[in-house]
Amino acid sequence: MLKEIAAGIAAGVLIFLALKGVDVTPFLLLAGMGFLAYWLIEKKGLLSSTLGGKSYTSTSPVSFADIGGQGTAIRELKEALEFLLRSNQVQAMGIRPLKGLLLSGPPGTGKTLMARAAATYTDAVFLATSGSEFIEMYAGVGAQRVRNLFNRARELARCQQKKRSIIFIDELEVLGGKRGSHTSHLEYDQTLNQLLVEMDGLKQDQEVQILVIGATNRADLLDPALLRPGRFDRQVRVDLPDREGRLAILKLHTANKPLAPDADLEVIARETFGFSGAHLESVANEAAILALREKVPVIEQRHLMEAVDKVMLGEKLGRKPSPEELYRLAIHEAGHAVTGELLRPKSVSHVTITSRGQALGYTRQKPEHDIYLYTRDYLETQIAICLAGAVAETLVLGSRSTGSLNDFKESIRLARVIITSGLSDLGVVAEENLSQEQMHEASTTIINQEEERVTSLLQPRLAVLQELARSLVERETITGQELRLLLQDQAKAS
Ligand code: ATP
Repeated sequence: MLKEIAAGIAAGVLIFLALKGVDVTPFLLLAGMGFLAYWLIEKKGLLSSTLGGKSYTSTSPVSFADIGGQGTAIRELKEALEFLLRSNQVQAMGIRPLKGLLLSGPPGTGKTLMARAAATYTDAVFLATSGSEFIEMYAGVGAQRVRNLFNRARELARCQQKKRSIIFIDELEVLGGKRGSHTSHLEYDQTLNQLLVEMDGLKQDQEVQILVIGATNRADLLDPALLRPGRFDRQVRVDLPDREGRLAILKLHTANKPLAPDADLEVIARETFGFSGAHLESVANEAAILALREKVPVIEQRHLMEAVDKVMLGEKLGRKPSPEELYRLAIHEAGHAVTGELLRPKSVSHVTITSRGQALGYTRQKPEHDIYLYTRDYLETQIAICLAGAVAETLVLGSRSTGSLNDFKESIRLARVIITSGLSDLGVVAEENLSQEQMHEASTTIINQEEERVTSLLQPRLAVLQELARSLVERETITGQELRLLLQDQAKAS
């Protein structure tokens, strides 16, 4: 408010002087320079004593009990934190203090949560920032911000009468990428050098002990100097959760939500292979929103199942395909579903022709257990299931559509995995020694074989495909159980 009044008075005075015939150009120039300085300081945080004002201290404490499915990572992290907690013993033994700790793993797996829990566990001040906050086009700004960050960590600990400070740097690869690899590398290198200098300066006997926790999805991009002993010398891998982990995370995020007796989190955990903690939190949240939308007081299993689809594929779309398109879509999905069920019994969770995100329809499969290694047989079956949509369209409607584009891309990708993993008839080969023609020929052979397999599987089952498609057009979604009954009836009839 004061600023506006001052600006108004200044403008008034200038107009008055101009009317009196005074040359106001120097005043205007001065005002312009003042505004530029204000903009650089306030808006860009160029000279600010804090880190561009963007870093924050944690207000709601997080404990390790709030993190699910990361037992091993938490154990390793706690072990490392003992160095901080028992600093006197560590010092007496002449052990080098722990200065840096790197959490690496895919996005949304709980790295930030782990760092916050580490601060609670060690009764430390928590200061969070991100690698991208240090990078400006002005040389020297990043380095200044690194210095400010460490000073602020000390100041805050003193103010709060704590002995420790944890500085959390997310996206460490932005600030700590390999030196010389950036186009404007002088600024990047200076910033990284400053971080190294600050970390080297950390001593055991200082009034405030500082621990830097870095997080990255791309540890391979980090400058080796950062990973050297004495810097980020402890690495903790924070991976995607396994089935038990997913169940634990789902339990954590549904603890404050009303669940219906039919809500089975074990089933949801089984169906969400590849989901991160953040995805699972979103599933719990979306399920509650769906229940609220329907004005149902509790979250039912169907809400949770729909939430999985939403998180996996996106929001339901109001697209309205024509009746012919809808039938083609239904035949396509029926092809995937019937083939999936025949080649992997009990694997189909449900099949639908509801459009979501990029998908016009989809068949969701639930793996029997989490899979980390794939055999040739498994990959070939996956290719067959991918191709089955197009094969069903050809067999029932006599032509194909662009709806199979992504299926074909996925089939080719899987065929390449078979070849490059040394599982194809070419034997063990180095990818770079294969010519484009050889790769093309080998993948076409695999794909043609699978297409033949699916054709002979579906040819005698055209009636099932058509019946399933009709049900899909009528009801949009068919459960795996209903599909299995349909297949059983057909087997009995023939
Ligand atoms: P990024 O790499 O994208 O920064 P991150 O690994 O730091 O992600 P977080 O920010 O810690 O992930 O997690 C995001 C949200 O996901 C959390 O606030 C929490 O709700 C949920 N979440 C992630 N992992 C877990 C977990 N293991 N247990 C419980 N909740 C989790």
